[in-house]
Formats: sequence, C-alpha cells, structure tokens
Amino acid sequence: MTAEREAALLAEVPKQLFIGGHWVDAASGATLDVDDPATGRVIATIADAGVDDGARALDAAVAAQESWAATPPRVRGEILRGAFDLLQERKEDAALLMTVEMGKPLAEARGEVAYGGEFLRWFSEEAVRITGRYGSNPEGTGRMIVTQRPVGPAFLITPWNFPLAMATRKLAPAIAAGCTSVIKPAALTPLTTLFLVRLLEEAGLPAGVVNVITTTASGPVSGAIIADPRLRKLSFTGSTPVGVRLLKQAADNVLKTSMELGGNAPFVVFDDADLDKAVEGALQAKFRNIGQACTAANRFIVHEAVADEFGRRLAERVKAFRIGRGTEEGVTIGPLIDDKAVKKVGSLVSDAVDRGAILLAGGSAVQGEGSFFEPTVLDGVRAGSDILREEIFGPVVSIIRFTDEADAIAQANATEYGLVGYVYTQDLARGQRLIDALDTGMMGLNTGVVSNAAAPFGGVKQSGLGREGGAEGIHEYLETKYVLTPDPFA
Ligand code: NAD
Repeated sequence: MTAEREAALLAEVPKQLFIGGHWVDAASGATLDVDDPATGRVIATIADAGVDDGARALDAAVAAQESWAATPPRVRGEILRGAFDLLQERKEDAALLMTVEMGKPLAEARGEVAYGGEFLRWFSEEAVRITGRYGSNPEGTGRMIVTQRPVGPAFLITPWNFPLAMATRKLAPAIAAGCTSVIKPAALTPLTTLFLVRLLEEAGLPAGVVNVITTTASGPVSGAIIADPRLRKLSFTGSTPVGVRLLKQAADNVLKTSMELGGNAPFVVFDDADLDKAVEGALQAKFRNIGQACTAANRFIVHEAVADEFGRRLAERVKAFRIGRGTEEGVTIGPLIDDKAVKKVGSLVSDAVDRGAILLAGGSAVQGEGSFFEPTVLDGVRAGSDILREEIFGPVVSIIRFTDEADAIAQANATEYGLVGYVYTQDLARGQRLIDALDTGMMGLNTGVVSNAAAPFGGVKQSGLGREGGAEGIHEYLETKYVLTPDPFA
C-alpha cells in the first residue's frame, strides 16, 4: 500500500521547470535524476535547467513584478492562506515526499510540514501589516512620509536538508511583500519545491510571480541570474563557503541579500541543570534531521561534575535508536543525504578518536544499501579535533568539558559561526548572563529546538546576514522609501 502510494505521488509531482505560469522542459532537453538516499535508487527524473532557462525564469519574474507589486496586500495574503489550506489537505503526501527524497523519518517530515506550512499562514497575515510613518520634521517646516515598497525580483536558493521549510521561509515573505521570484532548490531534493509550487499555482498565484528552476549547474545558472541588473534581491540558505562566493557576486550589482549559512552550535550543560531535561533537549538538538540541521548542536560543552553521567545517559538512549528507511514504522534515524556525507562524518569521527576521544556509542558507517551512519556519542573530545571546528552534519554527539562559567562561555564562542546556542541551567541569573554572553543570533534556554515561524531566525558572524520569519522576515523583501513634503500650513 505504501509502495503504491509512493509510486502514485512520485508520478503526480511535476517534473518540469515552472516559468511564467507554464510547466516546461529545459531548453536543451537535459534531465537530472533524484535518488532516495535510503536505497540509492532513482525515484524521479526531472528537467535540468541551463543558463538560458534561468534567464527565461528571470524574464518571467521581471515581467510580473509591476502587477504583483500593485496587487492588493489582502489578495496576496489570501493566496498564501489558500496555499496553506491546500498544504493541510495534502500534508501526508508532502511528508511522504520529503521522506522519500531526503531521508528524514516520516514523523519528522510531518513536523516539517507543520513548521514549513506555518510560514505560508504567518506571512498571509503579515501581508496586510506592511506599515509606514507620517509626521512633522523636527524643524516644523515639512511632513515626513516613510513607506515600504517591494524590493523587486528576487532569486531564492535553498538547501536539501529542509526541502519544504526552507522554500516557504523565503517564498511566503517574498509573495506577501509583493516581490516576484525565481527559486532554485537543491538538485538533491527538488521534488518538494515542485509539489509546493503546484499548490501555490492551484491557490491562484498569477503567472510569473514564482518561477522554479532545477539544475545540476548551480554555479553557472545562478551566476548569470545574479549578474543580471534586473535582479534586486538574493536570498540564500546553504553553506558558508557558497554564501561567501554568492555575496561577492551580489556585490557587483549591490543586491539586497539575506544569507542563512552554516552553524557550529554549542550545547552548554551546567552542573545545576535538570539532567533529564538536558538529555531530552540534547537528543532533539542533535538527532533531528539525522543531525543535518544548521541548528544542530555541534559541540556539547558539559560541566565536569555532570559530564560522565550526561554522556552515559545519552549513549543509553542513542543505542536504542532504530536505523532504517524513514517510511518504516518506528524508525528514528534515517540515511544521510549521500555517500559523500557518510564519508565526511566518518572522517570527523576517526580524527576525533585518533586524537583521544572515547566512543560511548556507534562510530561507523552502516554497511549495505543506502547512506547510513550509526548514531554516535564521543566523550572527551580533544581540543584541536576537526569535529569541534567543522559542521558535523550527521548523527554524532561530541562532548567536551568545562570547569567554570567563564570557561564555558569562552569555549561556546570559540567558533567563526554564530547561529544558535543551547544552554541548560536552573539558575535564572546565570541564564540571563548567558543570553548576553553567547555570540549567536538565537538561543535555546532549557530547550533543544528554537525554530518557529513567528520568530526571527538567523545568525551572526559567519552564520549569516538578515532574519527569516517573525515580524522581521518580510523586511528582507521590502525597501524603505522616505518622502519630504513642505508643510502646507507653514
Ligand atoms: P550548499 O551550500 O552546498 O548548497 C545550498 C544551495 O546552494 C543548493 O541549492 C545548491 O545547489 C546551491 N549552490 C551550490 N553551489 C552553488 C554556487 N556556486 N552558486 C549558486 N548556488 C550554489 O549547502 P547544502 O549542502 O545544500 O546545505 C547544507 C548547508 O546549509 C549547511 O552548511 C547548513 O548549515 C546550511 N543551512 C543553513 C540554514 C540556516 O538557516 N542558517 C538552514 C539550513 C541549512
């Protein structure tokens, strides 16, 4: 039954580019294969766009920009709300599709549908709350008017790890603000975006407002779009090295940019923490999405008095995880996205062990079909180990110890990243000090998950620029315009 449902769903998902309201093949006729990471098998073959297709997609976005900006905010909001409702009707299909193309367990995929869908609803509500100001200048000689306008055509690039939420977190505020866009999902997981855009189309989104290109030639296709002077906005979620390269390209046309980049989150456990809750939070912060999240806890910085107990309890829980294809009942750990990811995680674990870390659980790739890595706990990770510096992007806990609060803060901030930090303490004053001390854009205080459509998501340092979601998210797609007019009564 599940196999039949899967086959029917995969048959139904669009396989073409979406340009100017039409589903079309790549001009060259080229195609790319999408794999199931749990089996390595091809599940769909879709259009592989070239530079010309990217240019046509931008043409369509540019052509639709003026009329979309002039469309009443209420209408824009109601289309988003319609897409939210359609997604609720199709939520089981959306979840299954994500599990099949990306690998996360079905329960987590359902969670992403709830979280990702919420951006459609949140920004349907924000569309009608784009405000301005009106008032006298300090000299009393004129009236100052401040308004917000859509920035213009946007290029949205998303990663493979949250195929739905990363798309809605960009598309929804762009649509709400009155911006048209071209979206380019990752070639590893493009099907969810194609499915979502079909829902937006069904909800009545006019032709050209959103255009989709799927491609294996990310660099050349994106480079040409970013170099086009008609583009006004670039929003990227992905790794820091690619983000840095795109920022340099965006500088040539002084594009407004939003960058949601990599992370290296500290998870700090004080000796006064509720250890049961810290372990629960650790499991969420680490193993959600099989560790493949920018918000994943990367370094567990634990007070020396509780580190042994914390590691022991965590290892016990981790050993009870069930590895398998995410569609199977009871599976808690799905595959990594591909074999390259398995090799990378394996080499980070070997480096840590070679330098003296102790394996409390797991430690190896799983032999056989698919790209699986055992959930792993490493204790006593030595300073200088690669695993403390790099984003692990896999199901590996690495524990280091601290002696006092200053030491914990210094270790937590010892990274060029600054996306999120997690702190477990029952001391309110200490919690407040940590809010100020952590160099991160977000913090979980006694919780292992912070993401929420109503919250400003984003990082400092090399984790990025700008915020997505919350009241802030729509401003990434708006420009402020100020007008002065002489006071008619002066
Ligand atoms: P990636 O940087 O390899 O790819 C991200 C996107 O950029 C994909 O669509 C890819 O096709 C595209 N891309 C790659 N090279 C490009 C180029 N030269 N020009 C234009 N586009 C290019 O990242 P990934 O492996 O897909 O995703 C994982 C990374 O994303 C991790 O570093 C993770 O931390 C980060 N991430 C950050 C957030 C956040 O909100 N801060 C959220 C999710 C993921």
